[in-house]
Amino acid sequence: MAELQFFTGTMDSGKSTLALQTNHNHAARGRSGRIFTTHDRTGQAQVSSRLGLTHDAIEVEADFDFWRYVVDSLTQGARIDYLVCDEAQFYTRKQIDQLAKLVDELQIDVFAFGILTDFRTALFEGSQRLVELADRMNVLQVEALCWCGKRATHNARTENGVMVTEGEVIVVGDVEEQERGPAGDANVAYEVLCRQHHRRHLTAARAKAVSLAPEPLPFG
Ligand SMILES: [Zn+2]
Repeated sequence: MAELQFFTGTMDSGKSTLALQTNHNHAARGRSGRIFTTHDRTGQAQVSSRLGLTHDAIEVEADFDFWRYVVDSLTQGARIDYLVCDEAQFYTRKQIDQLAKLVDELQIDVFAFGILTDFRTALFEGSQRLVELADRMNVLQVEALCWCGKRATHNARTENGVMVTEGEVIVVGDVEEQERGPAGDANVAYEVLCRQHHRRHLTAARAKAVSLAPEPLPFG
């Protein structure tokens, strides 16, 4: 029986690495798959992991139709046993519905990988629908760590070094690779934090500044 599986974790928990490993394992068994992503950290249509692995992928635009794509491919004689879907948090509700339909109607396995909640601590649209529909949910066991050493469970966004909890949901970037925000004037970066430090807006940089300050600052 085919399944819709959702693998989730914070940034830095190794989702893209596992997506590529999953593809490798199934391909090694002679199965035929397709890899999808959207807004990858490299800005190209490929799945790239922080460990340096990359694989070409099909870019999922907002109007991309998974059902149409697979049916057209099968009609043209292609064989598709499974789909690997990275950055699935950015997919639309409708696209997740299409993935579930492919599992049920065409017995195609779908392995979706994505972050659960955004920097405002709200569920991403794609992730919400996956939680609602997935046959199985897997929380990644590689734990990302907050600067304090605790398990990082929340994603923080900083703009010009200041943590924000409001704004457009989709701005792609890395902590290491700062890039221009939607307004074009802010340096947007992401960082994983434990819940307590997310709640207190205490990023690694701010914690460092606080530890270097002569007087403890009243935060909280
Ligand atoms: Zn912490």
